Amino acid sequence: MTISDPRPIRAFLEERHVALASEVAAFASREIAPRPEPRDDDSARKDARALLSQVGAAGRLDPIRSQDWRACCLTREALAAASPLADAVFALQGLGTLPILLSEEENAPMRERWADAAISGRAMAAFAMTEPEAGSDVAAMGTTARRDGDSYRLNGAKTLISNAGIADFYTVFASTDPKAGGKGISCFVVPADTPGFRFVRPQILSAPHPLGEIAFADCRVPAANRLGEEGRGYALGLRTLDRMRATVGAAACGMAARALAEASTHARTRRQFGKPLAEFQLIQEKLARMAIDLTAARLLVYRSAWEADRGAPRVTLEAAMAKAFATEAAQRIVDDAVQILGGAGVLVSNPVDRLYRAVRALRIYEGTTEIQHLVIAGQLLAQDLDR
Ligand SMILES: Cc1cc2nc3c(=O)[nH]c(=O)nc-3n(C[C@H](O)[C@H](O)[C@H](O)COP(=O)(O)OP(=O)(O)OC[C@H]3O[C@@H](n4cnc5c(N)ncnc54)[C@H](O)[C@@H]3O)c2cc1C
Repeated sequence: MTISDPRPIRAFLEERHVALASEVAAFASREIAPRPEPRDDDSARKDARALLSQVGAAGRLDPIRSQDWRACCLTREALAAASPLADAVFALQGLGTLPILLSEEENAPMRERWADAAISGRAMAAFAMTEPEAGSDVAAMGTTARRDGDSYRLNGAKTLISNAGIADFYTVFASTDPKAGGKGISCFVVPADTPGFRFVRPQILSAPHPLGEIAFADCRVPAANRLGEEGRGYALGLRTLDRMRATVGAAACGMAARALAEASTHARTRRQFGKPLAEFQLIQEKLARMAIDLTAARLLVYRSAWEADRGAPRVTLEAAMAKAFATEAAQRIVDDAVQILGGAGVLVSNPVDRLYRAVRALRIYEGTTEIQHLVIAGQLLAQDLDR
């Protein structure tokens, strides 16, 4: 199975997507895959900025602006197969920019100042929702934004924020009415050079991925930087996640496809007991399960993206299924690939080890698998009650 192969998902694609699939696969293998894995967090941060310029200049972030979700998925599949860090760069430009593009009140200044720069790769975005005491339970957030004339004053702290310390702007969720829970949350664009904003410290992952803590101390943000109405920020965040979750599934599929390709090549060439590993049925059984899991995951991912592209108002159920299944399946596939490679598979220099370290976080960010299961069950039970 080749990476970004459009054939198994052809029913969900238009002609332009089929052309895009081979274009992005060629771009990723020619321009991105040859880059060595960064040695440490400092070089990961530098590489992330360089990758942003590269993918932006090549127009690879354009599907975010056009909200072509199948194109976003095809791009993330190809990037993730070549470099999980390049995929993370794409993901954060999407997460940080979509609230600007989706907010119900058109905010032309933010769109012109930040969205355009983000999509051309000139400005790095970040999405700041999670807090030390508000992870899965986002509505429990303690960061506040108090109205003060024609601006807001932000106070609080965020943790596990991708691109913290290297982003040019942060799309920040803060409570404008703490008593109202989720209905009191608003969303703001906070440029990184705003007085009162602080990058606190990096948080180091086992895979290269710039991450860290940020804080706000009387950080004054103009009211014009608020996206959408006051108190509608949580809904805007959920709409953003609804759209982006299928693309997380796509990234998982890209990593899984690369792992399957590496495992198949190894199984054909590595000889033990006088024959290639591929001739042992226990290995064939693993490869078969990996291929079934991957195809099923891609079908769920592209079903969700297709629903979003044809204008479905909500894709909460489809996106939750796609993200939960694809990320769990990718973890199994990458793990099996490591097993097929044996000792070579756990060497840091091997692509499957790189994937093994990178794929784990996908089951956690943008809502854990457990939270996706709660969303799916909630929708199912609500449908049963409607009958
Ligand atoms: C690599 C990485 C990048 C990230 N980037 C960002 C970012 O850019 N911006 C941002 O805002 N956040 C980001 N996050 C944070 C991420 O969204 C949170 O880690 C995630 O939502 C889970 O929150 P938590 O870590 O606090 O875990 P918790 O909410 O404490 O959950 C811990 C465990 O309990 C389970 N659990 C929680 N509630 C329930 C329940 N009701 N029923 C059953 N099980 C439950 C969870 O599924 C999980 O297994 C990132 C995280 C990672 C790992």
